[in-house]
Amino acid sequence: MARFRLLKDPDNYVLYDWDLVQDPESLAYWFDHFEVQFKQALKCATERYGCEPDGPERITAAQEHFDRILDYLRLHPDSLPGGRLGVYDICRLREIALRENDIGDPFACLKARENRIALDCYRRTVESHAELAGREKWLALVRGVFAGNLFDVGSPAGMEAPDVPPDFFRSIDGVKPRPWFIDGFDEFYADASKPGGGWSKAVVFIDNAGSDFLLGLMPLVKELLIGGASVVLAANELPSLNDLTVADAQACFDELIGIDPELAGLAAGGKLQIVSSGNDLPMIDLTNVSDELDAASEGADLVILEGMGRGVESNFDTVFNVDAINIAVLKDTQVTKYVGGEILDCIFKYARAS
Ligand code: MG
Repeated sequence: MARFRLLKDPDNYVLYDWDLVQDPESLAYWFDHFEVQFKQALKCATERYGCEPDGPERITAAQEHFDRILDYLRLHPDSLPGGRLGVYDICRLREIALRENDIGDPFACLKARENRIALDCYRRTVESHAELAGREKWLALVRGVFAGNLFDVGSPAGMEAPDVPPDFFRSIDGVKPRPWFIDGFDEFYADASKPGGGWSKAVVFIDNAGSDFLLGLMPLVKELLIGGASVVLAANELPSLNDLTVADAQACFDELIGIDPELAGLAAGGKLQIVSSGNDLPMIDLTNVSDELDAASEGADLVILEGMGRGVESNFDTVFNVDAINIAVLKDTQVTKYVGGEILDCIFKYARAS
């Protein structure tokens, strides 16, 4: 594993600075959140694992395992090494409870379903962008990322109805108008529209299955390729919530190039690579990424962190030695407490290389 080479100051990297031990109100919220979310994950897992001979027993064992962890942490929130507790740590303990009981990908069926729905909408999406140019096109692409990022089984709304992702085209109309809560679009567009193109190589950390990746992020990635950049898509090594793994992302991309020959041409010759970030959580520690990602990032001049986990709950204040975008929709009241703003506020943070 490696320290991500695009970090400006890896020695002073802060993964999260929100210690729940010092914030009892938030701590109680997150325990309740994880309790409900875990039950929902196992409900979804039944579809994937329930028919295996010992599947129901493993699901029950995972529930008991995580219950024990939460019960202990409620009594001893400062019991982890260092005495601190972050959402990141509880995510890690959740994944341990799942993986140790062979429930490796509880949302597998849900992800597959979301991907199928989104693939059917892809052509209509890129055709709508093809009618636009310049600033209007980039605005539509960014709004598309917001619309796609609305659905997340780790958020309260997504937890309530994991089988009902919102209609992507209706979601675009629901994206809040500018100025967004954090709105660096004008600076971004000034750079994107520079003569000769904006960037030569972008590293893009991807987030969720379905419309998030296929209808939001990939059209924007395609535009970067059109502008002459090569693109490295960094996806989780292992499943977590409904995030795409590197294998999922590769399978989605293979389907996409079957329906979009222009994208296939743009991506050919190594212009687009899909690599494992080495990560296995919704948030990411950029001082611990895969060697493959780190090597692929050589020469990059843009990094994009998409989604609330990678771009807001972690790495919100991370400084890079290249231009950087944090793009996400706020979907959780506790996260708005952390960064300000309101539910469904849009974040488009653009920081030039420093
Ligand atoms: Mg996610």
